[in-house]
Amino acid sequence: MIDLTVRLRVNWTSQGRPDDDQLSQYRGTASFRLGTGYIYGIKEPECGHPCPCSECDGNITKRHWAFKVKTAHHVVYDTEEAKKTKVDLFYDEATSRKGCKMASVRGVEVAWSDSDMDFCEMLCVTHDELLGKQIMSAWRCLDDSKVNPLYALDLTLMPSFGGDVVSALIVSHPHGQPKKITVGKLRYQDKCKDGSVIEYDAPTCPGSSGAPVFMFDPELEEKRCLWVYASVHSGGFANITPEAKRQENFFRKFIQRVKGRNTKPKPKLDQLNYGNDRFGIWRNYFYPTKIDV
Ligand SMILES: [Zn+2]
Ligand SMILES: [Zn+2]
Repeated sequence: MIDLTVRLRVNWTSQGRPDDDQLSQYRGTASFRLGTGYIYGIKEPECGHPCPCSECDGNITKRHWAFKVKTAHHVVYDTEEAKKTKVDLFYDEATSRKGCKMASVRGVEVAWSDSDMDFCEMLCVTHDELLGKQIMSAWRCLDDSKVNPLYALDLTLMPSFGGDVVSALIVSHPHGQPKKITVGKLRYQDKCKDGSVIEYDAPTCPGSSGAPVFMFDPELEEKRCLWVYASVHSGGFANITPEAKRQENFFRKFIQRVKGRNTKPKPKLDQLNYGNDRFGIWRNYFYPTKIDV
């Protein structure tokens, strides 16, 4: 699950963003921002099929692997932005960039998005044999957790909150830095029209938006272990960083829209973060997501 988390470097702000978008002032410009995403599903390599990447432009060329990256809609808005997005895999340590460990691919298109739930699926393609195989094996490893469950609560990195507290574990690239894992408690979850919203206090930073949020419930056998489906981190309130102020209005609006609940930052907490799940994901073992701007 860690290898499937990717850093996103977005180099463009789409003309298609609406007036009330937090980035509307940058529309049509090469503004830069960072985010996190999560590879969800890769197909067996295809040859003899048209390749959608920008170099092949729909022509039939050598083998390609197509895979989807889930992230927050506010990070990658549409295909215009996806094409200018670099997806960095295996950026695990500061040294990964110099060695050959980190690999980058470009986004191809936004295959699906939901602005109300702040959720997006971007299609990516690689022709790199080694990279294709690495992603394939990381995906199989996670997919295998359906058959051979990994009991995350037994891992030493998980703090024991005790009782029936549900833990939230987030893998992200805060400020575009190498991968970090943060852990906290699930505080609240609520079903809404199109899915569900989750609230947790696992720390995140700008750049964490779009990261996978995994939840573990000690009381339910099937939720004690790692599942293929993660939520997407959408953002949150914090009272410790100046960036937080900037995020606040956007998220209050977002949360009100999806929850119909008037949410105030809670001064006693370091952070209060939100993720969403387009399909009622957590409950149904779909992907929960967490987003930071
Ligand atoms: Zn291609
Ligand atoms: Zn930070």
